[in-house]
Amino acid sequence: MNTTTQDVAIGVVGTGLMGVGIATQAALHGYRTIVHDVDPARLASVAPKAEAVLDELIDAGRIDHAARQAALARIETHAQLDAIARARFVVEAIPEVLELKHRLYAKLAGLLADDAILASNTSGFPPDQLATPLRAKERFVIAHFWNPPHMIPLVEIVPGSATAPEVVQQTAGLMSAIGMEPVVLAKAIPGFVGNRLQFAVLREALHIVRSGAATPEVVDRVMKASLGRRWGIVGPFEGADMGGLDTFVDIASHLMPQLAKDEDVIDLLRAQVDAGRVGVRSGAGFHDWDEARIARVKAGRKRVIGRG
Ligand code: NAD
Repeated sequence: MNTTTQDVAIGVVGTGLMGVGIATQAALHGYRTIVHDVDPARLASVAPKAEAVLDELIDAGRIDHAARQAALARIETHAQLDAIARARFVVEAIPEVLELKHRLYAKLAGLLADDAILASNTSGFPPDQLATPLRAKERFVIAHFWNPPHMIPLVEIVPGSATAPEVVQQTAGLMSAIGMEPVVLAKAIPGFVGNRLQFAVLREALHIVRSGAATPEVVDRVMKASLGRRWGIVGPFEGADMGGLDTFVDIASHLMPQLAKDEDVIDLLRAQVDAGRVGVRSGAGFHDWDEARIARVKAGRKRVIGRG
């Protein structure tokens, strides 16, 4: 598969939260983008949702109106899965239900070109388990985008045991070409890398709140004023190297035994959900999501998107 924009059409199956973001990112970087969804309402919402993403990029000073219009013109929506046969790289972004994904893959197996790559945006299914209905398992890989792709550049590329090395390489090349930052894992582990790090921090945050030492407000402030800034520049290993590994051994020796290891901190999350406080969607979670808080997050988001 060649990865020039002239001859590669990118297919996206499933145009929900992730699919639209991925399709918009591909179209913005010059690729003809063929999208399909089984739900006509979702398909009809692709253009307005893509416009909203592109308008946010204009507002942040990243693109101009001409780029917006060119990107929109590159997105084709199709009610029939057959249209995806023209794509040489297909991202599957349908719900995280194994049976649904397997049924789709069985259809795609008879549809895709021999040199096409099928990439799943799964949040956690192992690649070998996903690939079982496929004949061409060597052309299957996981490409795990984050939400929203125009703000969070990471794509975790996770090969299965049968994935061909050139498929991993071509997927990484294509991800770079559409403005993403691909990282390749050596093998699949649950949560890949990013979600493991996210939930390790969340487990400790819940543990701290449960201990009574700090409120969610204080924990969030500590993170934003310290590690949140540092981790945009250096990762945890670079940070440890800079702090001095001998110092980190001293700190870790007394701190590691104190850190959360238990799974029952999840009860704190469950209690909020049981009380109908699911977060932004219900107006409250650990915080009340009033207009001021939403405006502050939007302003921060604009700053980050503006930096590219
Ligand atoms: P979503 O529910 O918003 O969208 C899924 C879309 O797939 C819907 O529009 C639905 O109509 C469509 N669909 C269902 N069955 C289909 C089929 N057989 N053919 C074509 N379209 C079909 O889901 P989402 O949040 O976009 O997640 C999609 C995938 O990406 C999941 O595997 C999810 O775990 C993963 N993911 C989600 C996020 C996130 O933050 N939401 C982040 C990374 C990865």
